[in-house]
Amino acid sequence: MENLIAEEGKGFHVALRALTYGRIGIGASGVGMAQSAFDECVEYIKHREVFGKKIAHFQYWQYRLAEIAIQIENARNLYSKAALRMDQGVEFPEPEAAGAKYYCTECAIDMARDAVQIFGGYGFMRMLANDQSTYKVEEIYRDSKITEIYEGANEIQKWIISRNIFGKGFTG
Ligand SMILES: Cc1cc2nc3c(=O)[nH]c(=O)nc-3n(C[C@H](O)[C@H](O)[C@H](O)COP(=O)(O)OP(=O)(O)OC[C@H]3O[C@@H](n4cnc5c(N)ncnc54)[C@H](O)[C@@H]3O)c2cc1C
Repeated sequence: MENLIAEEGKGFHVALRALTYGRIGIGASGVGMAQSAFDECVEYIKHREVFGKKIAHFQYWQYRLAEIAIQIENARNLYSKAALRMDQGVEFPEPEAAGAKYYCTECAIDMARDAVQIFGGYGFMRMLANDQSTYKVEEIYRDSKITEIYEGANEIQKWIISRNIFGKGFTG
């Protein structure tokens, strides 16, 4: 009994609360990865020339990065809202926590996939030379994938959100 955490018989409740808290953190880490890949890309395409133009002159990438900039902003707002509600004492701030976990991590993998594309062959390479130099985007692509899986796969987050919409009678 001296090692008891919280109330007896409430273990599952405590575990679910810890998972909810963790999901907000994973959402924040997704935003961090997306922002980092975004910043790398903006710098890179202002300098890399293809077919006589900097990549940043191509409207395709201007618009794609505009879309992702707003996606990152939305993702940041969503995990911040979930965190604020939890700080205010809401034990299970749903659907924001599940939404933050799935939306922010999807944002990270979307940005990372485009980042590897923007860097082309360099984006695919783990190491640039035997001095251990790297571009970060390959690492971010690998690291961002796991965020869609751990702390509850994103399909589970969508189930939690659906349960808030339809109720347990429909979703189980
Ligand atoms: C690097 C790493 C670190 C980890 N750290 C921790 C940790 O610190 N603590 C911890 O407890 N666990 C940790 N895990 C475990 C992690 O939480 C699980 O891997 C994750 O929950 C998925 O479980 P699973 O691997 O058994 O896959 P499975 O449960 O076999 O799921 C595989 C896939 O099936 C699909 N799926 C599963 N359930 C459903 C459903 N209901 N509806 C629709 N599709 C579904 C999803 O696409 C899912 O990705 C870690 C895993 C990794 C790889």
